[in-house]
Amino acid sequence: MHFDVSVHKIIHKLAYEQSFDLIRISKASVLQKDKEFYLQWLKNGEQGEMAYLDRDPERRYNPAKILPGVKSIIIAGLNYGEKPTKISDNTKVNIARYAKNKPDYHKVFEKKLSTFSESLTQNFSKINAKFYVDYGPLMERPYAAASSMGFIGKNTTLITPQFGSWVLLGEILTTLEIPEETPQKHGSCGSCRKCLDICPTKALKSAYDLDSRLCISYLTIENKGPIPVKLRKQIGTWLFGCDLCQEVCPHNVRAQAYVPQKWQDITIEPDLKNSMYLSSIAFLKKILTIKSEQEFKIFFKNTPFLRAKRVGLIRNACIVAGNLGNRELLPYLENLTNDESELIREHAAWAIDELKKPLHGRNSPPIVQ
Ligand code: SF4
Ligand code: SF4
Repeated sequence: MHFDVSVHKIIHKLAYEQSFDLIRISKASVLQKDKEFYLQWLKNGEQGEMAYLDRDPERRYNPAKILPGVKSIIIAGLNYGEKPTKISDNTKVNIARYAKNKPDYHKVFEKKLSTFSESLTQNFSKINAKFYVDYGPLMERPYAAASSMGFIGKNTTLITPQFGSWVLLGEILTTLEIPEETPQKHGSCGSCRKCLDICPTKALKSAYDLDSRLCISYLTIENKGPIPVKLRKQIGTWLFGCDLCQEVCPHNVRAQAYVPQKWQDITIEPDLKNSMYLSSIAFLKKILTIKSEQEFKIFFKNTPFLRAKRVGLIRNACIVAGNLGNRELLPYLENLTNDESELIREHAAWAIDELKKPLHGRNSPPIVQ
C-alpha cells in the first residue's frame, strides 16, 4: 500500500511540474466495447480520407501492439477553454478555440510529455515509456474515460467535471504497473441532445456517432480535396475547425477558464495572438493574398493553421468569404481565379457566384458592373 501511494505521489508531482491540468491512470487493457465500435466505424467509412486510421487498426485499441509489456497508461490533460462559453457569431470569421491565439499545442504538449516521460524513467528504473499527443496511434478518449477523467458525451468529446470538453489529451504508455485511482464522479448527457440539434452538417448522425466525412473540423483541416458543394453553405463562417457541438454543451458553461501562461513558451506572429484580428475581414484578406507555401509557412509559423497548408486554408477562406456576403472581398477572390491551384480556382469561383447573388437582406452595397 505504501508503494502504491508513493507511485501516485511521484506521478502527480511530475504532472504538477509540467503544469498539466489533469492526470489520471488507466490500465493498458483492450477496451472491448470501444474496439468493436471503432471497427464498425471504420467499416462504415466514417473516417473519410484519414487513411492512417485504417492502417493497422489493432494499434488503435491494443496498447501492447505499441509498447510490448505495457501495463499502464498515464493520461494527461491540458485545458484550453476560454470564458465565456458562447455560441460563435456567424457574421464573423470563426476558428476552433484550440487554434485561437495559441501556438500549435502539439509542440507545447510534446515538450511537456517528453520531460514527464524522461523523469518517469529516471524515477523508476528498468521501465519503458512512450508518449503521444493526439496524432498517436491509440484511441485516447476511451482510455481517458476508462481512467475516470471524464465521460464521453453524445458529441463524442471527453467531458471532464473541471473543464468540460475544453481539454487536449496526451498519454504516456508505460511498462510500470500503476495501481488505478479511486473513480471520480461525473455527470452524463441525460436526455440532452443540444449538440446533435445544432450540428449544421448533421455529422453527428446519432448520439456518440460522428461521421468525419460531414464534420466541419475534418472538412476544413484533415480533408485535402474540395469541400462538397452541398456542404459549403452549412460550413458558414468556420475557417478552421468547428466548436458548435461543444459551445452548446451545458457542461462547458460551468467549465473553468484556462491559464494562458502554459502556451507562452513558443512564439507566434503577433497579429495571430489577437482574437479581434482572427475574426476579422482583414485576416480573411490576408489569407486570400498569400502567394506561396513559403509565405504561408512564415506567417503561420508554430501555429495549428500550418496543418491546412496554403491551398487548404485559402479554399476554406473562399467558402467563408462566399458565406459572409461581404462584397469587399470580390476583388480578392477574382485574383484567385488565376491561381495555379485548381482547388483554389474552383472555390474562388464558387464564392464569387455566391457574392453576386441577389442580396437577400445583406448589408453590402450593390455591385457596380
Ligand atoms: S465539430 Fe461542428 S460539424 Fe463537427 S460534429 Fe461538431 S458541430 Fe458538427
Ligand atoms: S450537448 Fe448535451 S448531449 Fe451533447 S455532449 Fe453536451 S450534454 Fe451531452
